[in-house]
This record gives sequence, structure tokens and C-alpha cells, in this order.
Amino acid sequence: MTAPRPLTAAAVAPASPARRHLLASSLAVGAALVAGAPFVRRARAAAPFTLPPLPYADTALDPVISANTLGFHHGKHHKGYVDNLNKLVAGTPLADMPLEQIVMTTAGKPEQGAIFNNAAQVWNHTFYWQSLSPKGGGRPGGALGEAIDRDFGSLDELRKQWLAAATGQFGSGWAWLVVDGSGKLGVAKTPNAEMPLTRNLRPLLVIDVWEHAYYLDWQNRRADHVTALLDSRIHWGFAAENLARGG
Ligand code: MN
Repeated sequence: MTAPRPLTAAAVAPASPARRHLLASSLAVGAALVAGAPFVRRARAAAPFTLPPLPYADTALDPVISANTLGFHHGKHHKGYVDNLNKLVAGTPLADMPLEQIVMTTAGKPEQGAIFNNAAQVWNHTFYWQSLSPKGGGRPGGALGEAIDRDFGSLDELRKQWLAAATGQFGSGWAWLVVDGSGKLGVAKTPNAEMPLTRNLRPLLVIDVWEHAYYLDWQNRRADHVTALLDSRIHWGFAAENLARGG
């Protein structure tokens, strides 16, 4: 085990007690900031990776996401990806790499598909938990609100495109709010474990549209689930942090 590194001042945004606890237990934030990567908190810089705690109580997103769904999704699905990844990279050069580097190194290589899938799913889920908040929804202001108006015309148009991406993703996958290299915002959908970093897009927020994310609560009604997330659980503040970090 390596010792925890101190957090950078920039990483310690005004925080709730729960969030301070999470920050206090997280490492490797500085490396992500230096690399300009999205702000993903994780417990170690290299394998063995650990399951990051949820940034809120498992009842906090109810009724849009029940404690039952969160318990399985975080405690079984997310943890399963962490455990699989640790087994797959053990004893290989990948074991010394940070998570993002494993994702980027194995992307597009069929012979490393299992490692990519588990590494990307660890990353995606950690980012997903942070993309949600019990006090989410509403209308983002500031630089994020201005960028949304500039690049989508309105928040309503962004929501329309995001919902279309979420419902249009055939089968399992993810629906993202991203920013490209020129600073332009857009919506992207990815299948299975695929994610935007491998496409030179920086994620600002993500919605998990795998059936395991909503089926216990919403059954087949993916559109209703996503609409409810956008109404009251999507964490615009996290998007604003990620946008500001990328300059
Ligand atoms: Mn999931």
C-alpha cells in the first residue's frame, strides 16, 4: 500500500461533511488536475484499485434512484468491475498505471478488451456517482449556463438532445455531456463501457443507461427515468467544476 498523498488546495472545493469525508479519503487528485483530466476521485493511483464510496447516502437519490438500486449498482456492479480489473491487471505492466492510463492504453485493442471494459466501467461509474446529487436539477448559471446557451441555444434543447442520446443508445451504454478540444459543448452516447476520453472528448456529466441503472425502479421506462434525473438529480455543479478545470 502506498501512503495517501495530500490533496491540492484546488481539489478541495466547498464541501459538505459527507464530501469532505470523501475527499479526505481520496488520492491521486493532483495527477488528474495536472493532466487536465476530469475530476475523478479514486482511492489509489494504481492497482489494486478500491471501490470509491458513494458521495451521498444510498437513500439520497430516492425516489428517482432507490436505495435498492444504488445498493446493487454500487455494491455489486461497480464493485464487480473493480474486482475484475484488479484480477486482470495483476502481474502485468498495467498494474502500475493509473486508471485513466489503463483505459487509454487498452482502448481499441480487442486482445485487451476485457481489461478495457472493466477499467472503463470503473472510471465511468465513479464519474456517474459524482454526476448525480440529491439537490440536482434546476438551471445552471455562470460560465456553464452561458456555454449551454451558446452551443445548444437553450437548456431545453440540451435536455432534448441528451434525452434523445439516452433513449437512442441501443442496449447498454452511457449518455454524456462533453466538451471538445475547442471548448464546444455537445452530447454523446457510447455503447457498453466506451467513454469519451478515448475520442478526445472531455466528459462533464454522464447518465448510465444500462438497464441495471433503472430497471428495479422504472422497469422499461428509460425515458421517464432520464427525464426525472434531468429534472432533479443531475449535478450541474459537477459539470461546472469539470468545465472550469479544463480552462
Ligand atoms: Mn452501471
